[in-house]
Amino acid sequence: MTTERLYLSSIDAAYEKEFTATVTQIQENKISLDRTLFYPLGGGQNWDLGVLNGPNGQLNVTEVRGRDIIEHTVDDVLDLEVGDEVTGLIDFERRYAHMKMHTAQHLVSGIAYELFDGVRTVGNQIHTDRSRIDFHPIQFTEEMLLQLQSEVNQKIKQALDVTDSQMTRNEINAIMPQERTNMDLLPSFINDLRVVTIGDQQDMCPCAGTHVRNISEIGEIEFTGKKSKGKGKQRVSYILR
Ligand SMILES: [Zn+2]
Repeated sequence: MTTERLYLSSIDAAYEKEFTATVTQIQENKISLDRTLFYPLGGGQNWDLGVLNGPNGQLNVTEVRGRDIIEHTVDDVLDLEVGDEVTGLIDFERRYAHMKMHTAQHLVSGIAYELFDGVRTVGNQIHTDRSRIDFHPIQFTEEMLLQLQSEVNQKIKQALDVTDSQMTRNEINAIMPQERTNMDLLPSFINDLRVVTIGDQQDMCPCAGTHVRNISEIGEIEFTGKKSKGKGKQRVSYILR
C-alpha cells in the first residue's frame, strides 16, 4: 500500500509536526504507515527524525526511506502490530533547517543558471548545517561565487512567496527552458508534476521536497567552499545565517 505523503499536500503542510496514522506493515525494525509526515531520503534532502507513539510506548525514528512505501526505521518496535494507530511527531528543528537549505538550493541553482551561461545543477546534498550543489559545466572563480552570493542574498531580501501547483510537462516547458528546470532529465512517461515556484516565476522546478513559505525565511547565504569534481563539474558548499 502506497504511503500518503502528508508533507507534500501543500507548502503549508511542510510546517506540520504531528499526525496520526495506521501501521500497515512491519519488517523487523522498519515500520510502514498508511500516511506520514516523515520525509524520506530523496532529491538530495536528508530524512526527518522524530518519534512514533504507539499503544506500547514511544518509538525513536532513526531513518526514513522509500518511494511508494515509506519505511520508518526504529530502535525497537515494542510489540507494535499491523493495524495499530500511532501518533507521529517529527523533529521540526531539523525539518525546518532542511526546508530553508532546500529552498535556498532552488534560488542558487536558478540564479546561477541566469548568471553563468545556463550552467546546470547536476546534484545536491541538503543537510541541516551545511549543503552543497554540483554544477556543470563551470569553473567558478572567487569573484563568481561572491557575485552569486550577493545576487542570491539580494533576491532573499525581496521576500518572495513560494507556492506549489500541479502542472503538465508542456505547461512547464512553455514557461521556462527545460535545461533550467531539469525537466529534460525526468522520465518522459511522467506528465503531471508538482511544481514549486518562487515569486512570479522567478524560479520554477518540479520538486517533491519541503520548502519554506517565503524566501525571507532563508536568512542569509554564505558560500564556504568550492571543489572540482572533474570533467568541468564543481561542487559548491554553503551555510545559512
Ligand atoms: Zn525543492
